[in-house]
Amino acid sequence: MSVSRSGSGHHAAAAGGVALTSVRAGAGEPAARRQSRLTVLSGPSGVGKSTVAAELRRRSPDIWISVSVTTRSPRPGEVDGREYHFVDDREFDRMVSAGELLEWAEFAGNKYGTPRAPVQRRLAAGLPTLLEIDVAGARQVRRAMRDALLVFLAPPSWEELVRRLTCRGTEPPGVVARRLAAARQELAAAGEFDRTLVNTSVEYVCRQLVALVRNDL
Ligand code: 5GP
Repeated sequence: MSVSRSGSGHHAAAAGGVALTSVRAGAGEPAARRQSRLTVLSGPSGVGKSTVAAELRRRSPDIWISVSVTTRSPRPGEVDGREYHFVDDREFDRMVSAGELLEWAEFAGNKYGTPRAPVQRRLAAGLPTLLEIDVAGARQVRRAMRDALLVFLAPPSWEELVRRLTCRGTEPPGVVARRLAAARQELAAAGEFDRTLVNTSVEYVCRQLVALVRNDL
């Protein structure tokens, strides 16, 4: 059984609508990319993407981070509308059918997706925009928007990733095992990304990411 499933070609094609608001440009053309300002932060589950996103939200509130919808249950401390919009399967499937998601993926038994409209509004206004999503979702964004900047967050080592995933204590052992299996596949995808940041410290990654989002690097 595959660990991670994602939006079909239909959804990736639908995401292409967003590309109308941005200029197509290859990597290494920062002047053109400036008109899009869409940055995607991805990497294996447990690497610390959400911690980095939370720190970024605190430090640089001008950088808007998309709030995903998910069918996963909230973890302690998570607030509906802040970390995620928590929805049931039926509502998620309705959003997919209505074309309301820019990309979506199934990860370790739950579905996750990026609401399209808020992202389109930000990009149309030329505002810096960040998505924090899994590798399958990042691939869909890459197909739909060539000028998006894809950033891969890597763990300092495989052992460290295992430690983080198993010590989090928020998921039952079966779920942790599925996340580790997914992480192995996701780590192999690093070469598809424009930049890799090694998560040696949240502060370091945040500084680098802010510079990338603002096009200063
Ligand atoms: P978690 O359950 O740990 O919050 O997230 C599990 C995985 O889903 C993480 O890798 C996270 O980055 C990813 N994820 C969160 N939101 C989205 C989304 O909107 N789309 C996709 N494709 N992945 C997401």
